[in-house]
Amino acid sequence: MSTIALQALGLETSHLVDYQDRLVHNQIVNDLDALNKAVKAAGFEFTIASAHRDFHRQASIWNAKFSGKRSILDKNSIPIDTDSLTDSEIVESIMLFSALPGASRHHFGSDLDIYAKNCLAPHESLQLEPWEYQSGGPFYEFSCWLESSLSEFGFFKPYDKYRGGVAAEPWHISHIKTANMMTKCVTPNTIRDAIAKQNILGKAAILAELPRLYTQYVTNIAKN
Ligand SMILES: [Zn+2]
Repeated sequence: MSTIALQALGLETSHLVDYQDRLVHNQIVNDLDALNKAVKAAGFEFTIASAHRDFHRQASIWNAKFSGKRSILDKNSIPIDTDSLTDSEIVESIMLFSALPGASRHHFGSDLDIYAKNCLAPHESLQLEPWEYQSGGPFYEFSCWLESSLSEFGFFKPYDKYRGGVAAEPWHISHIKTANMMTKCVTPNTIRDAIAKQNILGKAAILAELPRLYTQYVTNIAKN
């Protein structure tokens, strides 16, 4: 597999550099810095909640959810009782909020979860839930600013709304040019190769339905 394919699957990290104590793709730094400065000029404190995450980190989140050590939430943030679910149903439940290891856009280094720290009241802490970015929530104005300005800096929101796959993630931004380059390397075949060799719970159920899961959750995003 090519180096770039390994990077896109979260299995290689030589493309990453440090930015505000997070790891990001070296090709996004200039645009990210320009965005950061514009966000500040608009009165918001640009804060990164999460940037690059590698395959093994994603696998540990996945396995913790699959095994019940970490709760799987439904659309209304209520924990799901997985006792009566098949492996295939558990896989689908996890994928509403957590990507399949190898198929997370956080592997790319081009994608970040961001918020505006100065919009939180002293007693509030970040939840990364959609209401915070909607009308009445602490980041509503920040979110509106992003909506109208992100594209100027080469970014977009892949999970701007629910499309029957991944839940809405209004905090998740993606560097268009870099992410599109990485996306080309993430196919049912490369995901299969990555997963087949690793300890991933529910592997048989995942591999049996990979082409459909790929269409429903991986490529089912906003246009850019
Ligand atoms: Zn994200």
